[in-house]
Formats: sequence, structure tokens, C-alpha cells
Amino acid sequence: MEIQVLGAHLAEAKGARLTSLLVDGVLVIDAGGLTSALSFPEQKKIETVLLTHHHFDHTRDLVTLAANAGYYWRKQLAVYAPRYTLDIVTSCLLNGKIYTNFFEYPSKEKPTLILEVIEPYSRKTIAGYDVLAVPAKHSVPAVGYQITSSDGKSLFYTGDTTVGVSECWQHISPQLLITEVAGPDKYEDWLKKAGHLCPRLLREELIQFRRLKGYLPRVIVIHIGNPYEQEIKEEVAQVAQELEADISLGYEDMKLTL
Ligand SMILES: [Zn+2]
Ligand SMILES: [Zn+2]
Repeated sequence: MEIQVLGAHLAEAKGARLTSLLVDGVLVIDAGGLTSALSFPEQKKIETVLLTHHHFDHTRDLVTLAANAGYYWRKQLAVYAPRYTLDIVTSCLLNGKIYTNFFEYPSKEKPTLILEVIEPYSRKTIAGYDVLAVPAKHSVPAVGYQITSSDGKSLFYTGDTTVGVSECWQHISPQLLITEVAGPDKYEDWLKKAGHLCPRLLREELIQFRRLKGYLPRVIVIHIGNPYEQEIKEEVAQVAQELEADISLGYEDMKLTL
């Protein structure tokens, strides 16, 4: 399994894209900085998008990807998410008022976007992967996804999350954990309120992972608050040292192989 970090940041700026991951070139998880990270031929290979939650920084490029797929390739894209997330995305972002209605374009019979509801805790085969959605703590309803390939390689991506994400651990056994740190420890209270993690809070959740599962997978941190990147990097390195674990920051176009 090859995982490409398309966007690793909380804010968009030159060289920094919003959260998005690509698995084996065909399966996308979250559509923040998606289309600007990939060439047309690369985008054309995408068949499926999974969404962790409805926030704009995770869904925005559904519009640009659908436009490219609909206008140029007449290709259909399947979008999977919990019902709550799909309801908000369809009524606010893809409502056909500010742009093409991709649920009816190019035709109602064969629209560009097809929506599929995903039920938490029930395994589903999607694009050839075993996918398990597990509710994650955030400021709005959200899930994390465990993606397992047919050869048994497994990734868990928490999406945006905060204290209590450890409730996910009992349901998963990944070789790679991709999670978030939105800011440094000095903003712990604010981050907690906003449904995010700082390095210190991540440390507590990872300690619980090891206690429960008896190991710690490699951990990649994304959704990095851009202005605090250096501070976050140093604090995450400290956590890695304390836990004697492989924890590091992700970056745009990073490739991970399982
Ligand atoms: Zn969010
Ligand atoms: Zn976010």
C-alpha cells in the first residue's frame, strides 16, 4: 500500500495544502488540497473519496475534482461518508447554486457524483479495500478510517480529533497511524475546545494505544497549524523520544509505503 500525503496543513498557502490523503493512487481520504496536488492523469485514476467530516478544509476539493471528472472525463466518483456529513456537504457545498449540480450533471441517469452512506463500526469493501469507519471526537460528528489492503496492510487515519480519540483504538490494529496536531502545547485549552490535539494531548492518547494494543505503530502527524510548525515539530520530537516511538510530521507529497 502506498500512501501519499497530498495536504498536511491546517491553512492553505504557497507550498502548504489542506488535508488530503491518497491511497495507491485510487482512493482519496478527505478532499482539502487534492486537485492542486495532482496532474490530470493522476486525478483521472481516482474513483473513490472518503470523508471524515464536513468541514471545508476536508471537503473543498470535491467541487474541483467533480468538475474535472464531469467536464473532461465523464467519469463517476463515489463519495463515502456518514449520513450527517453527506447531508451537510450536499446542502451547503454541492447544492448546485454556486456551481454545477454534479448530482445531475452530465445527466441524472449518470451523474458525476454518487453518494454512499457509510455506517460506523461496519466493515465495507470499498475500491478493493476493507474499510472501517470509527467515530472520532471532534467539534462536529466525525469518523476515522481504517483502510486495509487485500495483502493485510493497514492504515488508520483519525481525521480531525481531540482528547478521547483513544476510544477508537480498541477497534483497530494499524501498521500506520495518521493523526492531527493543530497547534503547540501552549494552546492546549483552546485546541481541546476546538476539537483538536496538541503534542501533549497526542502523547496521552498514544500511551493509551500502547497500553491497550501492546505496540505503537509509526505515527505521522498532519493538519499542522502552519505558523506553529517549528514549535509543533520540536514538541512532537520530544513526545517521540519520551515514548521511544516513531512519530514525525507529514508534509506535502510525502510518500509512505506499507
Ligand atoms: Zn474539522
Ligand atoms: Zn480540519
